[in-house]
Amino acid sequence: MNNEMKALVKAHAREGLWLQIEPVPDTGPDDVLIRINKTGICGTDIHIWNWDKWAKKTVPLPLITGHEFAGEIVELGRNVEGLKLGQRCSGEGHLIGKKSRQSRAGKFHLDPETRGIGVNEQGAFAEYLRLPAFNVVALPDEISDDIGAILDPLGNAVHTALSFDLVGEDVLITGAGPIGIMAAAVARHAGARNVVITDINQDRLDLATKVSDITPVNVTKDELADVQARLNITQGFDVGLEMSGNEIALDQMIESMVMGGRIALLGIPPCKKPIDWSRIVFKAITLKGIYGREIFETWYKMIAMLQNGLNVSNIITHHFNFGDFKHGFEAMKAGSAGKVILDWT
Ligand code: NAD
Ligand code: ZN
Repeated sequence: MNNEMKALVKAHAREGLWLQIEPVPDTGPDDVLIRINKTGICGTDIHIWNWDKWAKKTVPLPLITGHEFAGEIVELGRNVEGLKLGQRCSGEGHLIGKKSRQSRAGKFHLDPETRGIGVNEQGAFAEYLRLPAFNVVALPDEISDDIGAILDPLGNAVHTALSFDLVGEDVLITGAGPIGIMAAAVARHAGARNVVITDINQDRLDLATKVSDITPVNVTKDELADVQARLNITQGFDVGLEMSGNEIALDQMIESMVMGGRIALLGIPPCKKPIDWSRIVFKAITLKGIYGREIFETWYKMIAMLQNGLNVSNIITHHFNFGDFKHGFEAMKAGSAGKVILDWT
């Protein structure tokens, strides 16, 4: 290996990313060096590409972007145990501190000092990534690099979907983005009776039906109440998974829930929005905010489900070589893609 690599860098404070030669990162005693095979493009990467208000206040320049990856270990720090050279892996992109009460209680995903690769720290859109060995998740042979590269967003879907018991329940998912669609597949796999997913984008809803057996509803054309009646959901949805970040979708979800319903919120609203709290009170609804993945319980469950019949492979709609990254970002920005994979091999 020479000491240089290609990487997609947010190098300038304006729209775009730049493919540059960068030094291969040094591996500390507790780190591994991962040769990246595949990466996934996330909505977060689009915010960074666009250099919007959030990106400007969050992302230091210059920064190697990207946080969804699969690869193999090519260097081990001297303290690293339990991993080996050549091990195929993905990994948790949230780098946690070990000082907070939450971390010391083993609730790593709740650590307030969390920093994200590709957002606050050097990321995975590169030929090599340095990662703390703690964050590495080994990939079993039956999980491909393509699926390995989307375990981060699949983990968001799994964390949200498994927040509440779904067995025999009627589940409403608002937002058929890649995460909503994968959450629908997880809810199906976990034993929900009906899974209804809403969106305003017909291409996304069509894609949802290719990934799992769900009921799509285009809320610009169809009444959710009619679909509920057809499915014999008489008193409302038992569990809601909010995956759009849109306040109209959340409002519709609250309206459609059963008394005592439970809602997990993953979608990030762009700004403060009003909510009709009295309906939440009178319906005795439980709300749970979801951030990232449970470290590492979500990873364990996700891999176990993938080994046991959960199939989300149709969510991958585009593949590009990393040199063609501009096409990959265009496909994402067009709004109809599922997951877009960049190949670094
Ligand atoms: P996405 O933007 O691709 O999908 C959102 C979907 O919601 C789109 O298809 C959009 O058409 C749809 N939508 C818009 N208005 C709607 C409405 N009124 N009713 C129903 N659907 C509507 O996003 P994604 O990548 O799938 O991520 C889902 C959400 O989760 C986003 O808000 C994202 O920012 C957020 N997110 C949160 C975390 C976390 O840790 N909390 C992690 C990753 C992503
Ligand atoms: Zn992401």
